[in-house]
Amino acid sequence: MSTPRVQRECGPCTACCTTHRILELDKKAGVRCPHVRQKKCSIYGNHPPSCKVYACAWLIGGLPEEERPDRSGMVMDIRAAKYRGKIFRFCEMFEVREGASKEVKHKQAIVHLVDNEGWIVGLHKLGSSKVTYYRPSSINDAEFSAILAEVDGVIEKMVRALTPPQQL
Ligand code: SF4
Ligand code: SF4
Repeated sequence: MSTPRVQRECGPCTACCTTHRILELDKKAGVRCPHVRQKKCSIYGNHPPSCKVYACAWLIGGLPEEERPDRSGMVMDIRAAKYRGKIFRFCEMFEVREGASKEVKHKQAIVHLVDNEGWIVGLHKLGSSKVTYYRPSSINDAEFSAILAEVDGVIEKMVRALTPPQQL
């Protein structure tokens, strides 16, 4: 849970406290953080830097009000990578409850983002470390590998910048 950047607040949602890896706590993706208590962070204020800065697509106003992740069943992150002068948009989707990605609205969202918007979508199913990627047919294998490496590099640098050296 993070400090909101817009009008929204996380409220009782703690979805990303399960879906996301927290390096500082050695918490794996898909495992509920032990600090979640009664739909809140019990160490709020002293929670790790990566929790403090994190804001999902819903929190920053990118999704309708009713799509708050604890209700919709999916946490979504928006990212971008630059490759050969072109910006590629990513949406990473994390299941909050098992099987949520099979629901019609989420399947339709993936098709829309890839086919109509030209985005890359990474789907993280609950309980699996494998990521399934969907990409527009205009992006070939070589380009896709380079774009993924670019995104991974940016995320890794961000996490390292936020994490005290003794915790790496
Ligand atoms: S998933 Fe989004 S709304 Fe829910 S706790 Fe995390 S940042 Fe807040
Ligand atoms: S430390 Fe708090 S904000 Fe961070 S994952 Fe755990 S419960 Fe969520």
